[in-house]
Amino acid sequence: MIEIKDLYKWYGDVKVLKGVDLTVKESEVVVIIGASGSGKSTLLRCVNFLERPQKGTITIDGKTINPKGKDLHLLRQEVGMVFQHFNLFPHMTVLGNVMEGLTQVKKIPRSEAEQEARAMLDKVGLLDKADVYPSVISGGQKQRVAIARALAMHPKVMLFDEPTSALDPELVGGVLQVMKDLAIEGMTMMVVTHEMGFAREVADRVVYVDEGIIVEEGTPEQIFNNPQHERTKEFLSQIF
Ligand code: ATP
Ligand code: MG
Repeated sequence: MIEIKDLYKWYGDVKVLKGVDLTVKESEVVVIIGASGSGKSTLLRCVNFLERPQKGTITIDGKTINPKGKDLHLLRQEVGMVFQHFNLFPHMTVLGNVMEGLTQVKKIPRSEAEQEARAMLDKVGLLDKADVYPSVISGGQKQRVAIARALAMHPKVMLFDEPTSALDPELVGGVLQVMKDLAIEGMTMMVVTHEMGFAREVADRVVYVDEGIIVEEGTPEQIFNNPQHERTKEFLSQIF
């Protein structure tokens, strides 16, 4: 479903990604772990071309993305992304936020978009918040709205960049539960997270990134219980 081939990204002299190859199969959940600054966010952002890689290709559902063509417009609809800091529109209601992409990007009539948006809010357990503004809901609820907004576009894959890192501890579980439900439904997902419990329980594969390369990948069992590479062992020893 997602094929990342020989991906390089640099900013001036700073080499961030140094030849990343990764394939994510349909319905697979891949969790990406690694130290701060190792390139995890950059990798996700390259998958939907929020960052343009200097080298390498991204193929989504068999289609290799040409960033110069009109592929990007379609790509953004097929690849949903959820960020650490929600990025909701503050001047729109919760419902308005979820409808926005449907009316503005997909050009779906308002009544139909509203129906779809309400269905997505229901899915994340927030239908009762449809008419309030983001400022009055909790961080965990904001993140679930952000997930509903991404899902409303019916993406083929979802990218999550530390979706719970900005949340108070008691709000983390609700967001992880929504993500887990999505995984069970068969959504193809790439998730950057420090939630190792989630990785253990939900990931099909865990990928350890260090200094812009994939050092090691395997099942959660393999990576957490029996890491092979020294750098993986050292990283894990710091977080457990
Ligand atoms: P964290 O766990 O802190 O989120 P990360 O693994 O997501 O870290 P990235 O955000 O991908 O790391 O950053 C990797 C490296 O690239 C860092 O050294 C960062 O300073 C650099 N970098 C990222 N974006 C830019 C940019 N727009 N311009 C210059 N350097 C950048
Ligand atoms: Mg990051």
